[in-house]
Amino acid sequence: MFNKIKYILLITIIMGTLFAEKFPADEYQRITVLFTNDVHGGITRTEATYMNPQFPPKIGSGPAIARIASNLRARGEAEGFGVLLIDEGDFFSGTPVGSTTAGAAIVEFMNAVQYDLVTVGNHDFDKSYTELTKRSAEADFPFLGANIVDETGQIASFLKPYIIKEIYGIKVGILGIGTSVTPSMSFPEHVKGLTFLPEIATAKKWIPIMKDEGAEFIILSTHSWTPYERDKAAALLQEELKRGEWPDENKIGAPGMEIAVSVPGIDVMFTGHVHKGFPLPYEDPINHTLIFQNYGNGSNLGMVNFYIHKKTKTLAGYDFEVDQTAYVTLLEDEFWIDTDINNMIEEKRAIAEEGFDKVIAVLPAPLRRANEGQSILGNLLCDAVAWSSNADVAFSNYGGLRSDLEAGPLTYQSLFRFLPFGNRITVFLMSGAELDALIEDRVMGNSRGMLVSGLEVIVDKRKAEGDRAEILTVQGKAFDKKALYKIAVSDYLAEGNSGYDRLTTIGEKYRNNTGIMMREALRDYIVEFGPTTKIDSRWKLIK
Ligand SMILES: [Zn+2]
Repeated sequence: MFNKIKYILLITIIMGTLFAEKFPADEYQRITVLFTNDVHGGITRTEATYMNPQFPPKIGSGPAIARIASNLRARGEAEGFGVLLIDEGDFFSGTPVGSTTAGAAIVEFMNAVQYDLVTVGNHDFDKSYTELTKRSAEADFPFLGANIVDETGQIASFLKPYIIKEIYGIKVGILGIGTSVTPSMSFPEHVKGLTFLPEIATAKKWIPIMKDEGAEFIILSTHSWTPYERDKAAALLQEELKRGEWPDENKIGAPGMEIAVSVPGIDVMFTGHVHKGFPLPYEDPINHTLIFQNYGNGSNLGMVNFYIHKKTKTLAGYDFEVDQTAYVTLLEDEFWIDTDINNMIEEKRAIAEEGFDKVIAVLPAPLRRANEGQSILGNLLCDAVAWSSNADVAFSNYGGLRSDLEAGPLTYQSLFRFLPFGNRITVFLMSGAELDALIEDRVMGNSRGMLVSGLEVIVDKRKAEGDRAEILTVQGKAFDKKALYKIAVSDYLAEGNSGYDRLTTIGEKYRNNTGIMMREALRDYIVEFGPTTKIDSRWKLIK
């Protein structure tokens, strides 16, 4: 069988001779960085249904990462190069084994494969700051977050701002910065007492401190992101700079490219949050900082080799281990897994997923999400939420739906992939006028709208902003601006996240956190009524 490990060895021998000229080992120190971001608990072996829904190839995930890391470390020891294994946050929340253990199983895995550090992401606060503090205590490696301070104004005690590691005579400094938008994406009680400082100002403060301490090769590991449309964003940034508009160092949520251009002295950066991998790094045109980012959910591993000039201690260049790309998909056909690590993970998975394989229904056709307007899956979810809480209207954002549902047996496990975050339903009363204003918010500019139940709406994108939506009926009756309607949404939206800030100003006294888990509401609805399979007249879009 053709095997990528053998391929790596072969390529290494060939490249070894090629690069022997470019970066000879007596002049240049190689440091290989393995990187993950947005793993979201995806350490168990899985199937890549997104590649082929009928015959999905197997993905080695955590057990494959374990094997690659230990092989590379052994080679590094024999050949004299260093290996770092780092993570840019959102490490546990999203799979049963990650979520039901509040990340403890993921930390155990990371200990076993010897991660060097994790920079915390917004979802790492999903089970509260106190839980995350426990995970940090359990970890054999530091949790980084230089911009996350507590009431005393000091960096929260479970975090470190940076580490400096000496690797074959090179002092490697790694600064960790969480995303400063975390509070707007978390339940307030989960981040209570914490302040998330702006990324750029934080990097400007700490890089000189690290240099004073002797750091020579400087890495920034951050949960701040490289935008999905990287080239477009880079071009926009360059235009702004030409006009003399530099990023505000106190901007909340500065993406990686703005940090790179604003803060001199960072050699390379690793970003995360948006689940978008780039085969080649972005290079900042002014500071020449390289930015890498990987895909999420544990299906991939980033790998890049850096070469540091031994005399000047400067970064001379980089190359890749495999396929001329900065990340690999962990296909089992190409990468062997570590069976001990796999057994360890499978034991934990079995406990977390007890009863999850029970078939709830059989889907005759796949249920898909849509990019705009209504979708079968969005309709099904909103109908289930309205039904379970006896509401007139339910709605959802697009980002809450994390996967499609494939044809065939539907299990609680598939629902977990669809709704991984354990959100519960909040209900409140809202006037017709408020509901209308909320929908107008969601169809401004290029906004995609929202997923709804209980309504019939016409959205005319040709009309002026603020006048695009017309609600025809609620629960089949004529819409009334003055009437009070019972609304059901996820607790996440009710807290004003994802641009639904209007929901925080709706009368607290009408609000009720039902405690009903959305995933369970959906399961019960499907058991009762079977899956919806139709698009209907609830959201008519005119463009
Ligand atoms: Zn994130």
